[in-house]
Amino acid sequence: MIAPDLETAIARLQELVHGAGTLVPFTGAGISTECGIPDFRSPGGLWTKNRPIPFDEFMSSQEARNESWRRRFAMEEQFASAKPGRGHRALASLYRAGKVPAVITQNIDNLHQASGISPGDVIELHGNTTFALCLDCDQRYELSWVRRHMDAGNGCAPDCPACGGYIKTATISFGQSMPDAAVRRAQDLAQSCDLLVSIGSSLVVWPAAGLPLMAKRSGAKLVIINREPTDFDEIADLVVRDDIGTVLEPFVGEHSAA
Ligand code: NAD
Ligand code: ZN
Repeated sequence: MIAPDLETAIARLQELVHGAGTLVPFTGAGISTECGIPDFRSPGGLWTKNRPIPFDEFMSSQEARNESWRRRFAMEEQFASAKPGRGHRALASLYRAGKVPAVITQNIDNLHQASGISPGDVIELHGNTTFALCLDCDQRYELSWVRRHMDAGNGCAPDCPACGGYIKTATISFGQSMPDAAVRRAQDLAQSCDLLVSIGSSLVVWPAAGLPLMAKRSGAKLVIINREPTDFDEIADLVVRDDIGTVLEPFVGEHSAA
């Protein structure tokens, strides 16, 4: 059912939330646009400006690694200054109330953790861009360290001093395998929750986009909150095509698990 207006959407969502024992949110870039981080596919989104650099290119070309880091640093001001929005805060309230066991996200911006959800309960399907890892030995590097070495090395992205491996933001690029443990945990949650709420995802990136379907097949209710239509709207119990912050704001401060 597509909610006819905002008021009906919020009322219906409140009913579904209060009627569910466990609610699992699945979030995409749309929850963070009000925080100043553009999404990928909207007009003006990141992909309308830059073709993504696939993993094999990152691995085979020093220039691709340099370019990938230049792009990351060009976004640093936006990522570093972003604060959790109303959507993040609403989910954190439901988490504290015991309704939400964990959040599954495609986002890489660390804003769910910043909103107060324990890092262990943020399931990041596409990793995290606020720090870097050596692809060979897993050593963690801070972005400031990478930047210093790039500046000192004429714009050349540094390799791991410990093992010589390539250093990349802790994100999953196209062509890079998904983190097994995170995918398994996300699937378990989707299959065991009473209500899965997909928030701000165009639901086109697989396998993450399979989660709503998985939840539905396991008997959960499905809500989709997204400005644009998605391929899963037809099977959803409630579709809200409105602004995420506005729709979720009434849940900020929610403290009853009832
Ligand atoms: P997407 O760009 O494909 O879709 C975002 C959706 O959110 C769009 O359909 C858009 O219409 C909707 N939207 C945007 N702002 C909204 C708002 N205020 N209210 C309601 N709807 C809104 O995003 P996705 O499906 O999450 O993208 C896939 C990839 O993009 C992910 O792999 C993720 O890693 C990456 N990404 C992450 C961030 C981030 O961490 N904040 C930002 C950009 C891209
Ligand atoms: Zn290393």
